[in-house]
Amino acid sequence: MTATPKIIGPCTRCRQPHRPLFPAEKAWGDVPSPLCSPCWSKYADARANKTYVDFNDAFDNASDEELSAGLGLTP
Ligand SMILES: [Zn+2]
Repeated sequence: MTATPKIIGPCTRCRQPHRPLFPAEKAWGDVPSPLCSPCWSKYADARANKTYVDFNDAFDNASDEELSAGLGLTP
């Protein structure tokens, strides 16, 4: 996990209120930030596997080649 300040608030992605929030990694591209721990982990896992967490993520961050080759979405 990250060592970041404990901001408490609604997660930008899942909208769960009163969560400790962590800023998204810049290397992930255009993703919502800040994120709660489960959402942060989703992006970390997806990027580690070179995949995307959902259609919006792929649409914003995948290359044209990746999009045309088909999306390897994580569940
Ligand atoms: Zn979340």
